[in-house]
Amino acid sequence: MAATARRSAADNGKVGVADTVQTRRQAMALAAALFAGGALLTLVALAAPRSAEVDVAGSWAVALGSAVIAAVYWLGRDSLPFQSLYVGIALGTAMITFGIYINGERDGGAAALNEVYYVWPVVFAAYYFPWRVLVAELVLVAAAYAAALRLVDAGSIAPTRWLIVVTMLAGVGWLIRRLQTRLHDLLDQLAETARRDVLTGLLNRRGFEERLEAELTRATRGERPVALVLGDVDRFKEVNDRLGHPAGDAVLLRVAELLAGVGRRGDTVARLGGEEFVFVLPDAEIEQALALAERARRAVETAFADEPLPLTASFGAVAFPRDGTTPSALLETADRALYAAKDGGRNRSVAALART
Ligand code: GH3
Ligand code: MG
Ligand code: MG
Repeated sequence: MAATARRSAADNGKVGVADTVQTRRQAMALAAALFAGGALLTLVALAAPRSAEVDVAGSWAVALGSAVIAAVYWLGRDSLPFQSLYVGIALGTAMITFGIYINGERDGGAAALNEVYYVWPVVFAAYYFPWRVLVAELVLVAAAYAAALRLVDAGSIAPTRWLIVVTMLAGVGWLIRRLQTRLHDLLDQLAETARRDVLTGLLNRRGFEERLEAELTRATRGERPVALVLGDVDRFKEVNDRLGHPAGDAVLLRVAELLAGVGRRGDTVARLGGEEFVFVLPDAEIEQALALAERARRAVETAFADEPLPLTASFGAVAFPRDGTTPSALLETADRALYAAKDGGRNRSVAALART
């Protein structure tokens, strides 16, 4: 039953902008760290015992180039566009390929296994980029590695080497991508759970606040109205006292379903807590808000009319910007209107008095 209320309550209030900025900064910083690590490793490899055939000038070029790219990503982590990281993984792939070319194998030295480093651009692409970019990166690596093996004249083992490395990278990329998708699904689920009321499946106070903020921002930008309707079940304490808490819960669920059914498309109803509900009505003026409050009031009255304990609810309606321009100001005014409805005898809807 909760699912019904959940389905009826229109909700598209996702807040992902801060997330995206955070991810971009993190990805830039990681790219900088990877290139810095590459530069450092190249220098260490130059200092360590190595085959005589290694191209020293080429190694210095790789170290320097990596250091410069690391600096660019680090300094630009707040300003560079996300797509600049596509260039980064292509550059990294090229650098690693160049590393294979200059590691001495081409002049008869031992294979230094630089191709192991391909795992970094692949893992990076798998975690941060869409599928098609990961596939493009794998194709790039496969082609670049094939070219490198041909250039260093790796001999008859070259196709096997190529196959081992490329299939290993494809497997790693696929696995990271799957784990990343799973992780993001779980995070989305968690965020969704955090803004839902457990009993009714409606948005909870947090979800309501997010939605109202979003609607107020839209309304302010577009100079459009938004209305709020606050509702509270009358003498609900009696339900609990006479029928017990579980029966009280069942009543709340039913009220939630009734309220979820009276809004228009795009309207949202949330449970603020206890037996208090609130509607967010985009593009609605105070008159439409009051009309919706009346529909909701009648729906509750009718649904419970034949019950042993007939139940009613009272509503207070306000509109932005007429009755306030911030969420707290609007709620406060709505609370006063609701209070006036209770004071006037309950089972009624009251619109806030326009401020003069
Ligand atoms: P009024 O007409 O003035 O609104 O009277 P009321 O009895 O509805 O108001 P009051 O705020 O005094 O009582 C609200 C009651 O709602 C008290 C509390 O026990 C009950 N309540 C709050 N949350 C829940 C809940 O999740 N389940 C149940 N069953 N009862 C709840
Ligand atoms: Mg009440
Ligand atoms: Mg109450």
